[in-house]
Amino acid sequence: MQTLRRRPSAIFSALLILASTQAFTQTPGISPQARAIHDSAIVIDTHADTPQRFLEQNFDIGSTDPKDIGNISLDKARAGNLGAEFFSIWVEPEPNQGHFAQHTLDLIDSVYQQAAQHPDRMMMAFSVDDIERAHQQQKLAALMGIEGGHSIENDIHLLRDFYRLGVRYMTLSWSNTNEWADSSGDIDNPKIPHHNGLTDFGKQVVLEMNRLGMMVDISHVADKTFWDAIATTKAPVIASHSSARALCNAPRNMTDDMLRAVAKNGGVVDVNFFSGFLDQNYWNAAEAQKNEQEAATRAYLDKLKAEGKPVTFADEDRITREWMAKIPRPPFSVLVDHIDHIAKVAGIDHVGLGSDFDGVSGATPAGMDSAADLPKITQALLDRGYSAEDIYKILGGNVIRVFREVERVSHEMQAQRTLSDN
Ligand SMILES: [Zn+2]
Repeated sequence: MQTLRRRPSAIFSALLILASTQAFTQTPGISPQARAIHDSAIVIDTHADTPQRFLEQNFDIGSTDPKDIGNISLDKARAGNLGAEFFSIWVEPEPNQGHFAQHTLDLIDSVYQQAAQHPDRMMMAFSVDDIERAHQQQKLAALMGIEGGHSIENDIHLLRDFYRLGVRYMTLSWSNTNEWADSSGDIDNPKIPHHNGLTDFGKQVVLEMNRLGMMVDISHVADKTFWDAIATTKAPVIASHSSARALCNAPRNMTDDMLRAVAKNGGVVDVNFFSGFLDQNYWNAAEAQKNEQEAATRAYLDKLKAEGKPVTFADEDRITREWMAKIPRPPFSVLVDHIDHIAKVAGIDHVGLGSDFDGVSGATPAGMDSAADLPKITQALLDRGYSAEDIYKILGGNVIRVFREVERVSHEMQAQRTLSDN
């Protein structure tokens, strides 16, 4: 990569001087240089499932409980200089059949409630300008992305309503194929009706998202859906939480051809921290225990139901954690390998961070336990010869560029519509 190992720029030199005056937090294992770069960046994570905890467990993001197993709290975000989080609005299909939109609204409300409880440390954000404003005010910018097109219940009006409520990306499908987009999660299941990618309505959804200024997220989708989305969209796409298939052969990771296509489209691929998408051994071990794990989960949930207890995401998460803990954690380096691979194949302008925090039942590489560990990524990239400018792009600069371009395309499409209306 041509941008590697270049001489430190003026800004980097300035940071070194700042670091040497110990203006930045001292962290074990993180050099003053890495800490200085990290603390001066706008760090953006494009995927965390914390709203499940907000809604079902009454989790308070202001929690200071040292025993809390969650990946995200305001303290953890501050320690890791996390500047903006895209909170995932994920509606689990099975238990929410018949009321996807209602549950979507409940989750959206849970994010607003957290922001309302902590106005001094957190604010809702709907644009690049908002992210920058939050950064200046040293608050966590809270954004929202819908994970799974089933949330709109095949209704373009609902898509627009969700945009109005602040949703700024939508993952076209989750692991379930919906009525207009095939998913990688069930593409091999002959019992599920598939569409060979996106239906005509699915393409209309993509174009309406472009017009609204909602980022098109291709994480989770089947390969053909990805190619249809790329061919349809008028704005850059994101993969809010996807890793590289060349390094770990999981069907929802991205092939090198896809990575190059996202580069050509001007988009960004934000690396997922789930060990099963990063490390082939972990993936294989998880696949090997899958049937036994599913049977155990089913039995546990059935037992709760029989006792008349409500079954929550937390219950599922609890048992999934036990099973994930049976598999040894891969080293931290596997996470950096994926960033490195995507930076090499797609280019330094097309890689970012999409942790999947609070959505992977603790199955992250060793050393990546919460948002507080994000500076370790900066240290590892520095160790591998990345420049400060490159690291800024990976930590959030690329997402900002894509988001801004999505906003620009939206304004352009809306202006055209207005002109043609006259
Ligand atoms: Zn996901």
